[in-house]
Amino acid sequence: MSNQLAIRTHMRDPPESIVCHAQSHIFQYESGGASLHSQAQMIPVRPRDGVNLTRSDIERAFVGDTHGGHKAPTHLISLENTFSGVVMPIEDMQEIAAFARERHVAVHLDGARLWDAAAVSGVEIRRYADCVDSLNLCLSKGMGCPVGALLVGSAEFIQKARHFRKVFGGGWRQAGILAAAGLFAIEHIWPTMEATHRRAVRLADGLVALGFELALPVHTSMVLLRDPPAMRAQQALIDALRPKGVVLGNFYEGSLRIVLHHQISDECVDIVLEEARKVIELLGKEK
Ligand SMILES: *Cc1c(COP(=O)(O)O)cnc(C)c1O
Repeated sequence: MSNQLAIRTHMRDPPESIVCHAQSHIFQYESGGASLHSQAQMIPVRPRDGVNLTRSDIERAFVGDTHGGHKAPTHLISLENTFSGVVMPIEDMQEIAAFARERHVAVHLDGARLWDAAAVSGVEIRRYADCVDSLNLCLSKGMGCPVGALLVGSAEFIQKARHFRKVFGGGWRQAGILAAAGLFAIEHIWPTMEATHRRAVRLADGLVALGFELALPVHTSMVLLRDPPAMRAQQALIDALRPKGVVLGNFYEGSLRIVLHHQISDECVDIVLEEARKVIELLGKEK
């Protein structure tokens, strides 16, 4: 909702378009909301490096004018950091921000997991925010709150977004108690993220050593395993862990996604690696 409010607040003159990552949350997992709420066309872009958008990716997709009435001009660039746990470098964001300024368009950042990016890169959230006109931060996910997200922008932007929030049906008077959970998470959970990331990297390194392949580099709390050739091993691992009380994530974009959080211990990582070793040994014998 926070992303959708940001888009609605930025968009002002339909028909218009939004350039975004082809696998981004706002394109894939928000029910086509931009077309419904904001009458905007999304232009999904596959990054050339397969992971994060760069200035040249954006330039390629950007629609500068209506082309004689055939096209919806781009009025917003939407970024995502982290993307599936991978940190988007601040330098790439700065270059995109410079391009957006040249073209007089706004930039939104879906920073649902920007807490993770800041924790691992050491780049402060305010520096990422400097690159964009609006920023969404999620308080559930790795921060562990029951619910909640933050939308950040100029005072004028937020005033307008509040108006739309009411229209969207989100005009709560009772949200303060949830804000308290958010403050707790910022003080107490956020500082634990580095340790969670280290555990995720140890898990990934261990799985790779056993012959599993990563779909994406592991920067933060997410380990994405590539499907073939290890599909059988992945399913066997899921089945082996379930009786031990370890529920491995879902298949996501054809990859097995394992996400760690602050309540996952070193012992739990050891259990997963030990079962993975047994699975690989067993499958090796069957061959
Ligand atoms: C989960 C997620 C969202 C939505 O966040 P909520 O606070 O759960 O609504 C948006 N973007 C990304 C990248 C996410 O992972």
